[in-house]
Amino acid sequence: MKLDVNVLRYLSKDDFRVLTAVEMGMRNHEIVPSELIDRIAGLKHGGTYKVLKNLLKYKLLHHDRSKYDGFRLTYLGYDFLAIKTLVNRGVFTGVGRQIGVGKESDIFEVAQEDGTVLAMKLHRLGRTSFRAVKSKRDYLRHRSSFSWLYLSRLAALKEFAFMKALEEHDFPVPKAIDCNRHCVIMSLVQGYPMVQVKQLQNPETIFEKIIGIVVRLAEHGLIHCDFNEFNIMIDDDEKITMIDFPQMVSVSHQNAQMYFDRDIECIFKFFRKRFNMSFQEARDESDEAEVEMDENSRPSFYDITKDANALDRELEASGFTKKEQNDLDKFIEGGLEKSKDSDEDEESDDEEQVVESNEEGNLNEMKSLQLQEEEQKSSDGVEAEVELDDNEK
Ligand code: ADP
Ligand code: MG
Repeated sequence: MKLDVNVLRYLSKDDFRVLTAVEMGMRNHEIVPSELIDRIAGLKHGGTYKVLKNLLKYKLLHHDRSKYDGFRLTYLGYDFLAIKTLVNRGVFTGVGRQIGVGKESDIFEVAQEDGTVLAMKLHRLGRTSFRAVKSKRDYLRHRSSFSWLYLSRLAALKEFAFMKALEEHDFPVPKAIDCNRHCVIMSLVQGYPMVQVKQLQNPETIFEKIIGIVVRLAEHGLIHCDFNEFNIMIDDDEKITMIDFPQMVSVSHQNAQMYFDRDIECIFKFFRKRFNMSFQEARDESDEAEVEMDENSRPSFYDITKDANALDRELEASGFTKKEQNDLDKFIEGGLEKSKDSDEDEESDDEEQVVESNEEGNLNEMKSLQLQEEEQKSSDGVEAEVELDDNEK
């Protein structure tokens, strides 16, 4: 997806004010009525409609007239709000090239004033396989809060919280710098995903290190759940960094053992294939009857002394509520059942994504205005610039 940040320069304060008003309206409207946007934005000389047209031109909004005249944010619109907030905070000054396209994220380089380059991960939950998700998970239909906006924000918050916690426990992860909306800023990892590496000086040592990480994670109460050659980075000195944490679960999860074994198996499989490492249990893959399992070669989930509450504590400390955790887990759960980095899901473009909601009719506009006040109290950056018109209170 294109992220033309030059557009940022052309956007005025009013443009951001209206964009923010749409974001606020989306807390309880899938499509925010134009009239409500105008009232939230409260531009002094009217003019909201002209601004909306401008934002539409830059593809920051999507116009929907199917039920009533209204707008919603596109990913790009949401990106710009996050970027603007982080730039205002002084976290970085410019956005550079795209360095990664995950299934549910886009990764860019961003630069700080002194030239330091960082990585920016924009979460895009619901970008792929949304229709599949929707049909499988009916309960999502009845919850207006389950929008991609909400879920992507939770994924970013969770990833940020874990990155920090893992770093504090000396796990090899990028340094977590900041987080806003669906966007996580972290240190740029030098090196490449393991999947691109054809040769290693010491495959055995690296293998043991990686398995050691999975075990130590479990001791700390965590399972990565997507631990594979795509999410392990390695540099020229064969230093390892693990990335990509939004799907992590607690060792007390009902399927914990399965996820743990799967992570371990991914590593065994990769090293077997790529570096011709042989494990006793893999002596003959073609004839299962002859395979002799060597239980000692593989860490057993049950033998690990686990601190099952670590996850909850870390998340609580980060302000991630139980409800948010549940919401995100429910969404991610389906994705965990199959391997994440495979490519079996249908792609869809941004404009096709509509999260269904049948609640928008129930929610009145006053509630939205109340939320707006709350939002102002609890936020900074761009959001703080939007003030309530006195006569709206
Ligand atoms: P996804 O959840 O979409 O798989 P990832 O966090 O795995 O997203 O990132 C996708 C790709 O972006 C990675 O495989 C890696 O190549 C690159 N990447 C992610 N984070 C960083 C980082 N901090 N430094 C350098 N490259 C990164
Ligand atoms: Mg990944």
